Amino acid sequence: MDLVIIETFDNYFKANIQLTRLRAAGVECYLKDEYVVTIDPFLSNAIGGIKLVVRRNEEHKVRKLLREMNSASDRQLVCPLCGSHKFILVPKRSTENILTAITTWLFSAYAVSAENVYQCTDCGYESETLPEVAAVN
Ligand SMILES: [Zn+2]
Repeated sequence: MDLVIIETFDNYFKANIQLTRLRAAGVECYLKDEYVVTIDPFLSNAIGGIKLVVRRNEEHKVRKLLREMNSASDRQLVCPLCGSHKFILVPKRSTENILTAITTWLFSAYAVSAENVYQCTDCGYESETLPEVAAVN
């Protein structure tokens, strides 16, 4: 079976959400290196993160589907500062997070991940929850 990486993730939450969305849309897909990254998040950069993999002959169809799904969900988010619709999930910059990362690494703890925040890609605004969903007309 010829497989192709369609998307990569640095945490298993986003990876599994995307996996579930695609499977719900009838796409056969799976996650590669999910357990390695979950067990030792420090390896994520070294091995290229968690990979969402699909059959090569479905790549074009899946990319189109993902574009449609992502733009539909992006349009509903609005940055309170600049009105942008683009948000990414980034690790929160704090001392607590550094301690969590060190503890996780030392004890090879499961699923103890650093806190993340949603960041506006246009102005840098950060929020612990996704910003208000715009009214859909
Ligand atoms: Zn913004």
